[in-house]
Amino acid sequence: MYLEELFGLKDKVALVTGGGRGIGQAVALGLAKAGAEIVIFELQPPTETVRQIEEAGGKAYGLLVDVTDETAVHNAIQEILARSGRLDIVFNNAGICIHTPSLEDKISDFRKVVDVNLTGEYIVAQAAARVMVEKGIRGSIVNMASMSGSIVNIPQWQASYNASKAGVAHLTRSLAVEWAAYGIRVNSLSPGYIATAMTGETPQELQDAWLKLIPGHRMGTPEELVGAVIYLSADSSSYTSGCDLSVDGAYTCF
Ligand code: NDP
Repeated sequence: MYLEELFGLKDKVALVTGGGRGIGQAVALGLAKAGAEIVIFELQPPTETVRQIEEAGGKAYGLLVDVTDETAVHNAIQEILARSGRLDIVFNNAGICIHTPSLEDKISDFRKVVDVNLTGEYIVAQAAARVMVEKGIRGSIVNMASMSGSIVNIPQWQASYNASKAGVAHLTRSLAVEWAAYGIRVNSLSPGYIATAMTGETPQELQDAWLKLIPGHRMGTPEELVGAVIYLSADSSSYTSGCDLSVDGAYTCF
């Protein structure tokens, strides 16, 4: 009962962007197990995530939304209100990474990464917060940053990604201060290397180089981020806002 008070999400509606696979999928399932109804924004139907949540006894549906499309995001948030009646939690997770040395990088690629990772998170956070303010909901927004926002990964070059994630962490602090008056909390999560398609599709020699640098010599799993997002979403973190929570196996400690 005490744990339910701290970490329970019963009667809450949670939006997870990029919830069709990887970290978003694991977190969507975890938030659903904690009691929340889940809405997923995805580029393709998140059929498997919705199936897993329903199989576990939860409620979920997906909406095809590109987070960089302001109008689509606005319309989808209105659809959430129509279908679910409220919006309490946002896990702003959709993101992309492009590895290119900066001397060769195309500006269009730089723009694309910043557009999805930083501007996309801002578009979703703004649209969600407007609804929370209008409905008097003391919501929680968890933005996906990365350890790459505070360190420079080696040996691959990914300046656009690193810059976008540094932007997410400071956007988070800025919104946390600005929206505190409305009771809306904004935090970010900074994982280290996590085993998903984003990391798994990179050449093996890169992955081997990363493993040598990680203190525990293993990547994290998407499931190892679930507890952190539940904590930041639930009443357990009611006085936590503007925080960037590291879940990186101590990578950034040295
Ligand atoms: P994946 O590539 O496995 O998943 C990314 C998800 O985001 C996919 O479902 C993808 O959809 C979706 N997506 C991408 N662009 C858009 C868009 N414009 N609109 C809506 N959805 C979109 O990555 P991860 O699960 O590994 O990463 C999730 C987040 O965590 C990202 O923000 C990433 O930067 C961050 N992160 C990841 C780390 C890691 O080591 N894996 C470490 C630190 C942070 P689709 O399937 O259609 O492509």
